[in-house]
Amino acid sequence: MSDTKHDPKLISDAEWRQKLTAEAYRVTRQKGTEYPGTGELLHNTETGKYHCTCCDAVIFDSADKFDAGCGWPSFSAQSEEGNVDYRFDDSHGMRRTEIICKQCDAHLGHVFDDGPMPTGKRYCVNSVSMTFEKREQ
Ligand SMILES: [Zn+2]
Repeated sequence: MSDTKHDPKLISDAEWRQKLTAEAYRVTRQKGTEYPGTGELLHNTETGKYHCTCCDAVIFDSADKFDAGCGWPSFSAQSEEGNVDYRFDDSHGMRRTEIICKQCDAHLGHVFDDGPMPTGKRYCVNSVSMTFEKREQ
């Protein structure tokens, strides 16, 4: 028998609601979008790792962060840990690729093909979907 208690995929909706702030719950569990330009981590330029707000998996690295001018934190790649997954999303009359946390299915944002080289990708992520852990130099 495996210990299911610590598997974030098995956490119930009610538990997430309790664990997260109202805004984080709305964005990560209900596929919401934070108001552009408001995210706490939007202008963060410190060196470190970005973690999933819900389950703490590492999802992005500050080395890949860039200013896309779109109002949300943007990255040109996911971190080497590989915790970001992709899902086709045709809601709101658009064909987009949703990005989610592989460990807990949290909605993170969307990925677009207009990012900087060499990846050409722009991972547009809600600030409230992430927490930041600074790396000491
Ligand atoms: Zn997660």
